[in-house]
Amino acid sequence: MSIMIENIAPNPLVAPIIQFVPFEKPRPFVIPSRLVMRYTICEYCGNESAFAFRVLNHLHGILTCDSELCKNNAKRDVHAFFHTEKYARMGDIIKMFPDMNLQSIAVMRRDGSITPGGKILEGTIDLPCFLRKLENNWCIPVTFTQDGNNSAKCMPIKYLIHSGLSESFIDNLIKTLDAGIYKNEYDAFMEACRT
Ligand SMILES: [Zn+2]
Repeated sequence: MSIMIENIAPNPLVAPIIQFVPFEKPRPFVIPSRLVMRYTICEYCGNESAFAFRVLNHLHGILTCDSELCKNNAKRDVHAFFHTEKYARMGDIIKMFPDMNLQSIAVMRRDGSITPGGKILEGTIDLPCFLRKLENNWCIPVTFTQDGNNSAKCMPIKYLIHSGLSESFIDNLIKTLDAGIYKNEYDAFMEACRT
């Protein structure tokens, strides 16, 4: 088998991890991990023509080939990871709750003041942004400007009430997030773990 190493400059602050473990047999599931200094082989079937299915950022994900089976397994395993780690991709949430696509956010600051004119960070395919459950609160990534400086923060979604969303909308959103928008994929992942 010819070996290719992904062309990503290693972070000098992190000891490079090169996995020399040969591919032995097809894997029913994969847990996303750092993509730095890895052989570009499909983590499911060993196919040498693999690409990165990125998860948290461009250096974290799963290597998969282009087969429908491997790509679908990668999608399932990424969503199972989000479910476990309590992440919800902003793009997925806005599809489910279009009213979340607010043009202007009233950003609740730590001192209790409110800064208007903020924006939800939706991110891109390579660099997605997430709703995350932090200290028992689902928080939304927002960016805002104050005194000419751009800032970003994760704001508990209960404060979206100051941006025009109703209490019942926010309660429903929190219930949906707690139930897990990727729960089906998580269950399928757990099933794959048992095979
Ligand atoms: Zn494959």
